[in-house]
Amino acid sequence: MKIPKSHPRYESLMMRELIAKGVEKGITSQHGLIAHGRGEAFDYLIGEKTSIVAKKSIDSAAALLLLAKQPVISVNGNAAALVPKELATLSSLLNAPLEVNIFHPSKKRELRIKAHLENYGAKNVLLPDKRYKIRFLESNRKYINPNGILKADVVFVPLEDGDRAEALIKNGKKIIAVDLNPLARTANNATVTIVDNITRAMPLLIKATNRHKKYARRKLESIVKNFNNKETLKEAIKQIRRL
Ligand code: ATP
Repeated sequence: MKIPKSHPRYESLMMRELIAKGVEKGITSQHGLIAHGRGEAFDYLIGEKTSIVAKKSIDSAAALLLLAKQPVISVNGNAAALVPKELATLSSLLNAPLEVNIFHPSKKRELRIKAHLENYGAKNVLLPDKRYKIRFLESNRKYINPNGILKADVVFVPLEDGDRAEALIKNGKKIIAVDLNPLARTANNATVTIVDNITRAMPLLIKATNRHKKYARRKLESIVKNFNNKETLKEAIKQIRRL
């Protein structure tokens, strides 16, 4: 469908279009449509723009990713549909693999997501391997790649589900989440939560990573040390109440 740029809800409609196309292409699951709807509702409540607190989270996320020994970017069907190019760019910038991880088991969909990311320039896309899993998780999302999440110290998990975020933390990983819902279990379990739409947060995270690459390690450590996720979430909730 052609959406006129002048439409007041142009960006929101474009995102719907990407997610719907993702389903058509077999990248996104039908349940992903519902998850996107929940995201839209929260985006509406935060005014559909990146807040100052979200920018602070993005700074801290970039610092944490640059300090990581083995960063990995976890990708589900919604993230792949919405920001494939940005995921590929961040992966190259950090020299971090992208690892496909989906809730509803489907080898076909995993392979489609991998091919889709590669079409957008991704060079290192890993798939889960049933011989390896994280502890404290029952769903299909427990399976991991031995060269990816298994070894990772920091995992970037945009659009996560709460169970897996909690399990990754219990497995000793630091995690960075992008979640529009500051009340979500994911948001509350993450080391750093970016309360923003993934489509706005990804370009800003790429910019921040490029900028922070020039910083000394000590400066990056101080950015991470001065960040408080609980305070960030409280502030995000306050902003919704103020509207
Ligand atoms: P949890 O298990 O963490 O409490 P949940 O059950 O709400 O959360 P899901 O339904 O698995 O989680 O995933 C949807 C989550 O992703 C929601 O919290 C929603 O706000 C968020 N979300 C959806 N689309 C976007 C988007 N484009 N950008 C950022 N966040 C999004």
